Amino acid sequence: MTPYDDAPAQARPALVDGFGRAVTYLRVSVTDRCDLRCVYCMAEHMTFLPKAQVLTLEELDRIASAFVGLGVRKLRLTGGEPLVRKGFMELVLGLSRHLKTGALDELTLTTNGTRLAEFADQLADLGVRRINVSMDTLKPDLFRKLTRGGDLAKVIAGIDAARAAGIAVKINAVALADSNAAELPELVAWAHARGCDMTLIEAMPMGEVDVDRTDEFLSLKEVRRELESFWTLTDSDHATGGPARYVSVAETGGRLGFITPLSHNFCEACNRVRLTCTGTLHTCLGREDASDLRAVIRAGATDAELADAIRLAVDAKPKGHDFQIRRGAAPSVSRHMSTTGG
Ligand code: SAM
Ligand code: SF4
Repeated sequence: MTPYDDAPAQARPALVDGFGRAVTYLRVSVTDRCDLRCVYCMAEHMTFLPKAQVLTLEELDRIASAFVGLGVRKLRLTGGEPLVRKGFMELVLGLSRHLKTGALDELTLTTNGTRLAEFADQLADLGVRRINVSMDTLKPDLFRKLTRGGDLAKVIAGIDAARAAGIAVKINAVALADSNAAELPELVAWAHARGCDMTLIEAMPMGEVDVDRTDEFLSLKEVRRELESFWTLTDSDHATGGPARYVSVAETGGRLGFITPLSHNFCEACNRVRLTCTGTLHTCLGREDASDLRAVIRAGATDAELADAIRLAVDAKPKGHDFQIRRGAAPSVSRHMSTTGG
């Protein structure tokens, strides 16, 4: 039972789902394209969406702004790689108006960092205060292998440029049993020494890729146990309303997050929904549920009709996901993380 069970959808506070969770965080994938091909995220040869299916910058702004109008306080732009989308900085400029009016607390992005050095100053000028940069290894050769061709030096230059521009950087790394497992303590220490928070992520079974996910999967319970054998980890009450559970590391003085969708389910406090670059709203990362907001706006919906469509979709947000990795099994969710917006 939630306090809003008997109220009609319109009478409820801005965006509250059927289980009483307020939705205050929207992640928007602005493109399915990327300049890298991380092995756990994409197949080597991906077919990308035709342009006509992808929301224009104006459509992205309209839908994101509708969410802000409904009480969303945090917007994260992601992809694919957001910084490869043509006109991306215009989108950031447009959306930054909501920071100025106070309607939005935070405008942020998740990036692979390859083009960050180019854009860090502009992002800082537009009010971006924190960003997430994905980097799974400090070894240039392994980085090239994991990303199928990426240049680690560019990512590190991007991280440094963001820090120099006054943007706080959190490094995200997917924990992979068969490649970066042994290096994770060094990666955490490196991030903390640079003044960056760090979050480790369990690989999720999303989309067909070329590797066997049972070989790459590494439980973060194991990683945490190993880190605790030489570091003092203290549970932190730092919370972002997100899936990460944080600890402070006494020896490095930094904060470390664990995102454990497989070994620990995190749905009770979920405050977020995701919009793909084709305008599909997914209210759960680990389910196939979807609402087509592109169809709504391209059919000429008014702002009130768009708001109703959003409320309806959020009302039906599933209670939780059920990711599983079994040898030979199909991915739990057929879409790739790059489509959904990780
Ligand atoms: N291209 C940007 C980047 O890499 O930061 C933004 C999009 S990417 C899809 C967002 C995050 O999803 C990255 O941190 C990436 O490591 C993570 N990711 C991609 N596929 C994943 C998977 N199957 N399981 C867990 N995390 C994944
Ligand atoms: Fe591109 Fe990010 Fe996916 Fe890597 S994780 S392929 S950088 S979208």
